Amino acid sequence: MGKNLSKRSEDYSKWYNELVVKADLAENSGVRGCMVIKPYGYAIWEKMQAALDRMFKDTGHENAYFPLFIPKSYLSKEASHVEGFAKECAVVTHYRLKNAEDGSGIIVDPEAKLEEELIVRPTSETIIWDTYRKWIQSYRDLPLLINQWANVVRWEMRTRLFLRTAEFLWQEGHTAHATEAEAVAEAEQMMNVYADFAENFMAMPVIKGTKTESERFAGALETYCIEALMQDGKALQAGTSHYLGQNFAKAFDVMFATKEGKQEYVWATSWGVSTRLMGALVMTHSDDNGLVLPPKLAPIQVVIVPIYKGLDQLNAISEKVAPLVKQLRAKGISVKYDDRDTQKPGFKFNEYELKGVPVRLAIGQRDLDNNTYEVARRDTLQKETVPNDEVVLKIEFLLEDIQRNIYRKALDFRESHVTSVDTYEEFKSVLKNNGGFISAHWDGTVETEEKIKEGTKATIRCIPLEAKEEKGSCMVTGKPSSRRVLFARAY
Ligand code: AMP
Repeated sequence: MGKNLSKRSEDYSKWYNELVVKADLAENSGVRGCMVIKPYGYAIWEKMQAALDRMFKDTGHENAYFPLFIPKSYLSKEASHVEGFAKECAVVTHYRLKNAEDGSGIIVDPEAKLEEELIVRPTSETIIWDTYRKWIQSYRDLPLLINQWANVVRWEMRTRLFLRTAEFLWQEGHTAHATEAEAVAEAEQMMNVYADFAENFMAMPVIKGTKTESERFAGALETYCIEALMQDGKALQAGTSHYLGQNFAKAFDVMFATKEGKQEYVWATSWGVSTRLMGALVMTHSDDNGLVLPPKLAPIQVVIVPIYKGLDQLNAISEKVAPLVKQLRAKGISVKYDDRDTQKPGFKFNEYELKGVPVRLAIGQRDLDNNTYEVARRDTLQKETVPNDEVVLKIEFLLEDIQRNIYRKALDFRESHVTSVDTYEEFKSVLKNNGGFISAHWDGTVETEEKIKEGTKATIRCIPLEAKEEKGSCMVTGKPSSRRVLFARAY
């Protein structure tokens, strides 16, 4: 039974879109650029949220909630911020509809025009810093470590399920500090939290670095990021953490009294990851048979499929399986026993492969006679027969081993797709043939970066934190450079 998925090697983009829909993660909606996240996809997102939320709380943050609407005047207060977001804002201008006088239907009531337009938040720095002015008076009120789980809207022109949507779900952390050093440390810490999450939960290796001026968040002095590599050799920005200096404190007049009684502007950070991580997860591990999910984020970690003829056999199998299900659940492992009689085992095998369930158990009459299970792992598709009294241990081992193995595989792929080049010719040829990250010298100017982008569609993904000082010359202009940066074509 085929799953009719396109092959990655033939049309990666088509494969991705088909997989997201067929694996029941999400689908396009009637609203341009906005998606419907389906229960199976949402269950994965909830697992991501739970893990991240724990990590935020472990680092001292609390959750709060701020309004969806931002008065236009707020957004305008920080000049580079509004400039960066102006082109992708959804704006509310009216608050009422009415019946058209000529009977042609419902229209916007021109008399219900808002005095001040409201922007649907593209990000919440402005509304939050307007609030922080009321919350912060003295050094005793600092640091203020807040996170919000919310949806935001950025009017993106070219959208793709999860990777880039007009409305997306995310978390945004917004912190306020008494010193510059503390704010910088916070921004770095949150980049590290994201990297930790990406590697240990998503099994997705990432490169940590800082953005160049042209890729920096609008209003930030420094943007830290984690960058991942997808299987088609394109990079994906998976998370960002911004050091905002005193820009928002100055724009919203947020000052605090220091211990010495002086008035000073507050230092800020903000950081976010979005439902884009769902796209990253799919693109990092999945194969031509469907999703491959890391056990730590899989909504169903183990599925058990009975293979039977007639009710008597099914009952015997169900009786055998019941204590196993109980035992696994007691260990915190999520198990589904799929005894639906509306589908054949082959159909179920296909479905769970497509949905990336890490471990599949099958049990039929022969297993009943021999006191065994057939155990299959999704990552390598290997199968083996395991005695009943070893099956729990086997499952525990597999869940850990799959998590480790897919990380290793993704890391090997990444490592074999980082190429150092010294000339622009080489750069273009690697882009064309291999893709991946390209490590090269750059003269540090926006002009050269722009020229490379125009010529090759590749952008500077980051200045890696681990990049060592290395004297060289820019591959395009020949001007001196002190370290290599990482380029790639990106989503
Ligand atoms: P930013 O506020 O621009 O730093 O973005 C914060 C996070 O949201 C980053 O991890 C981005 O990758 C992600 N992101 C930005 N734009 C979109 C979008 N249109 N759809 C989904 N995720 C996005």
